[in-house]
Amino acid sequence: MRTLGLIGGMSWHSTATYYRIINEVVADRLGGHASAPIALQSLDFATIRQCQVDGDWAGAGVLLGRAAQACVTGGADAVAICTNLMHKVAPAVESAVDVPLLHIGDAVAGVASSHGWTRLGILGTRWVMEESFYADRLARHGITAVVPSEPERELVDRVVFDELTQGKIVDASRAAYVDVIERLASQGAEAVVLACTEIGLLVSGPDSPLPLICSADAHARALADFSLAPEPALA
Ligand code: GLU
Repeated sequence: MRTLGLIGGMSWHSTATYYRIINEVVADRLGGHASAPIALQSLDFATIRQCQVDGDWAGAGVLLGRAAQACVTGGADAVAICTNLMHKVAPAVESAVDVPLLHIGDAVAGVASSHGWTRLGILGTRWVMEESFYADRLARHGITAVVPSEPERELVDRVVFDELTQGKIVDASRAAYVDVIERLASQGAEAVVLACTEIGLLVSGPDSPLPLICSADAHARALADFSLAPEPALA
């Protein structure tokens, strides 16, 4: 197996999801005591959150780039940023290491393509919903992003940071998210991306009027596939 470098802790609640799913996939495929080789750098989310609030994306890029280098020192054959939002600094991470960055948007697009969906609602932090870095990555795969209205984006972002990244699961917030998903359906979305790695802890398939793509689940499964894939032939 190839070693995965996980840049996690953003928040640790979703990094735990990644760790569980990657190991479940490896155990299912290989059986016995098999588990995934992982080099994990779990950052202090309070520091990263302060960079976000301050708009210090360059500083965040330095921190994630250093974490990526530490993963490589720990044997990583590829690195992954275990959050959607922090892919905003993906170029800084990519330029800090000479192993590939396995992008969450590609994993999400892979699930959408397997179902033939090309118009996806996006629920995530405000930067993911409002800026182009995430939608552009999906567009590379022929996917159009549909985003909630401004007050809905404010609600979705507030629930992420006031509740989910602090491990709080609130029934009223689940109901509010379902209302937002209903409006995304009326805007023509065929499915909804839970484009924040903690939202899957709040909302799941049975709650939702549209099919869901959980970004943490999609990314973790793509990472497990990378780990399990045979080494590429040497040129
Ligand atoms: N985990 C969240 C995401 O997937 C937000 C936390 C963060 O990275 O700031 O976007």
